[in-house]
Order: sequence, then structure tokens, then C-alpha cells
Amino acid sequence: MTNKRFQILQLLGLLLLALLISFNTFAAANLPKHSPVPGGIAVIVLPSSTQPPTAFYRGNRVLVTGSQQTGWYAITGIALKATPGTHHIQLGDAQKIAFNVKPKTYKEQRITLTNKRQVNPAPMDLERIGREKKVMVAAFKHWNDQLTPSLTLLKPVQGPYSSPFGLKRFFNDQPRNPHSGLDIAAAEGSPIQAPAKAIVTATGDYFFNGKTILLDHGQGLISMYCHLSEINVAKGDIVNTKDIIGQVGKTGRVTGPHLHWSVSLNNARINPFLLMSDKPDILESSE
Ligand SMILES: [Zn+2]
Repeated sequence: MTNKRFQILQLLGLLLLALLISFNTFAAANLPKHSPVPGGIAVIVLPSSTQPPTAFYRGNRVLVTGSQQTGWYAITGIALKATPGTHHIQLGDAQKIAFNVKPKTYKEQRITLTNKRQVNPAPMDLERIGREKKVMVAAFKHWNDQLTPSLTLLKPVQGPYSSPFGLKRFFNDQPRNPHSGLDIAAAEGSPIQAPAKAIVTATGDYFFNGKTILLDHGQGLISMYCHLSEINVAKGDIVNTKDIIGQVGKTGRVTGPHLHWSVSLNNARINPFLLMSDKPDILESSE
């Protein structure tokens, strides 16, 4: 082989390598950022196979994305109450894949409510709260193979982020569940758009969450919209990205009009910023 031919071959080889690297980067770019903390997402590489593997985490089926060429990834939601340390996802009956959940400290938020019944509900309210919780948990646990979930969500309403995800909350100085969603402040009546294609799985007027919509984006990716003034969809409707589903309001336990937006993977509420393309940096770090 002449020296020149060798050089050309070498150049072609380098070109091929560059192409392969950019292809892999492109494939990885469609995945959410690996953020293995309570309220975060663990992106776990699964063994290669022709069909997408079936994975479970803490009894809930996990969203799996990828292909035989790019490899399969389990997009695993980690609950806010998860204990840092070694966790596992289950593949089939015998195979387990370990991953490490790192600690994360969220800030505190203290809210004063004048409606004492919203802090310490009456016995008759507790029955209603229990009933409504069942509907919401069933929606969050729902598994639907019909839709291929989009791993990029649009901001559902225009307005400033008024309360970040994960805050440890105290209502009238009493500790309550952490903030399992993201609040966006907007005037009453502002339109709320679907952040991705989905099926409406539940709507209702709930004690704490007020007028609420639950959307199923497929494979356990669920989103919830609370405190609305108007609901423009009904259970069973299919909504496309940017369809108007309702309007911002101040129904339920609120101090003013805003949208409370929860995003859930495998029944774990996660930071919606992790799936948003236009997230701001300002509320990102709460460590
Ligand atoms: Zn909220």
C-alpha cells in the first residue's frame, strides 16, 4: 500500500469515528439528564436485546426507551421520600440492576393559611380526601402502552416559576408533605396547554388540589394540573401538544392563582425541569 493510500484510509477511518461519536451523542441527547437523587431521574443502561426489556422499580413498571442499535435505557423516577443508598430495578424474575441514589437537600417553605380546615381537615373532609387520593394514585400508577411518551415537555402555561419542586413544607408551622410539583404564577383564566400528547385519565374538583386534570403520556409518564378555574377536557379525551386543556385558577388549597404542575414517572413525582427543554437555571439548584 502506498503512503498516500494509507493516509486516505486513515482519514476515512477518522471520519467514520467522528460520525459514530456524533450519532451516539445524538442518541444520548434524547435522554433526560441522569439525576439520581430523591425527586430525580436515574437513567439506567439495560442489557442489549431485540425487544425493549420490561423493568420494574419498587413494584411499578418503568419507562424504557431506546432501540437495539442505541441500547435500551430505563428512565426511572425516584420518589422524594427515597432513602439515599443502593436501589435496584428488577428485570424479569431474577435479574437486578443496582444504582446509587445520592442525597439532596431541598429548601424549606412556610405557608400561612387562614382557612384552618385546609391545614387540619375535619373528619368529614378526611373521608373525601381519602377517596380523591385513590383516584389520583390510580392515575399515577396507570400503565399505558398505546402512546410513546415524549421525554421533552413544554411549559404548560406562561408565567414566572413561583415555587420550586421539592420544598419541605410547613402549613401554619405544621410539617406536611413536600412540594411534589412546580408552581407557575399566572392570572386567573390563563390558558394551560398540554406539554405533550396524552390521554386524559381523570378530572375532578379535589379538596386540596381544586379543579384538577391528570394526563397519561404513556409508559407511566403522568402529569397533573391543579387549582384550575376551568377544565376544558373530559376523561378519555386524547390531547395533542399545545392543545388547551384548562385555565389557571385558585381552587383548592392556595394563597393565590397559579398552576401546580406535577410530573410522575413510575408513580414517583419528579422535578418537571428534568424533562423540560426551556428550563431556567434560577430554580435549578436548591442544594
Ligand atoms: Zn404547588
